[in-house]
Amino acid sequence: MSVVGIDVGFQNCYIAVARSGGIETIANEYSDRCTPAWVSLASKNRTIGNAAKGQIITNFKNTVHGFKKFHGRAFDDPYVQGEKPKLPYSLHKLASGNTGIKVTPLSIVIIFVSQVPSFFTDAERRSVMDSTQIAGLNCLRLINDTTAVALAYGIYKQDLPTPDEKPRNVVFVDLGHSSFQVSISAFNKGKLKVLATAFDPYLGGRNFDEVLVEHFCEEFKARYKLNVRENPRAILRLSQECEKLKKLMSANCSDLPINIECFMNDIDVTGKMNRVQFEELCAPFLMRVEAPLKAVIEQSKLSRDEIYAVEVVGGATRIPSIKERISKFFGKDVSTTLNADEAVARGCALQCA
Ligand code: ATP
Ligand code: MG
Repeated sequence: MSVVGIDVGFQNCYIAVARSGGIETIANEYSDRCTPAWVSLASKNRTIGNAAKGQIITNFKNTVHGFKKFHGRAFDDPYVQGEKPKLPYSLHKLASGNTGIKVTPLSIVIIFVSQVPSFFTDAERRSVMDSTQIAGLNCLRLINDTTAVALAYGIYKQDLPTPDEKPRNVVFVDLGHSSFQVSISAFNKGKLKVLATAFDPYLGGRNFDEVLVEHFCEEFKARYKLNVRENPRAILRLSQECEKLKKLMSANCSDLPINIECFMNDIDVTGKMNRVQFEELCAPFLMRVEAPLKAVIEQSKLSRDEIYAVEVVGGATRIPSIKERISKFFGKDVSTTLNADEAVARGCALQCA
């Protein structure tokens, strides 16, 4: 029997398997190790991953994504109510009071699996476990994202202190699409102790996309007299382009263009942005990076010079200003020893190996 580790992210999923000799991240049917956390339902078939994401423009009402945080949440929960107007698909209240997703022709309850953020409540964890059963998977264990990352780090380090030496303290920072998690673990050979965890469950890469979307909605309204907010398809297209622009800005400081052909009413739109402007617009979100870092170090009762390394994972830690803030806080460069995208899945696979 094979044991696999699954990282179900808000945006991306990874699956790793422990085989004799090491951990391997598995590629999907597109030879891609990253599978988008998307499901699309049509009248006769269901697609997941890349194929589902491809349906977003044509079948947006029945193409679901960004559902990870609806697990085990009451429909009346303020988070659910806050998300509802932003979604291209509809939510509804299940008989249990929990959140369901309405698609034509059927109504589905979330069907996905495995690791969970450290801040997930019991109800959220139970909902994830129920989903694994519905999917026909035998879930051996749910483990916290941050623990999985620490495991992935510890396993390959040959030079860890022996059990009677002072442990090596490492900070792990994971900024994903929807959430921000920080932890500190103490390592000795064969031993790992999680000393502290902190988080901002509502800070992630998506906030930065939304800032860009808002900016260009305003700009296109002024320049082209287009009311983008009224057109769900246009919003989806703009979001995709803004995410691309955000990623490009991580690697370039110069002005970068955004061009969308036949955006609305057959009008081609164009705009531009650079990293300095981006950071100004995103200042309220960038400022939120520090609080969990402060909380985790206080909880651990360590001083900053007792920290051996600060390891970053999660796609959004690639934003230069985020990296700078983390590095400034701890007074050392951030390390990227781990595969930023795959570390959680690999840690999950290791746990059961
Ligand atoms: P979560 O952990 O919150 O459930 P996730 O695990 O699906 O989400 P990740 O795959 O870690 O999230 O990261 C996805 C986020 O990282 C997206 O917002 C994506 O736009 C962002 N991202 C990826 N690469 C870059 C980059 N080069 N620059 C800026 N952001 C990036
Ligand atoms: Mg993640």
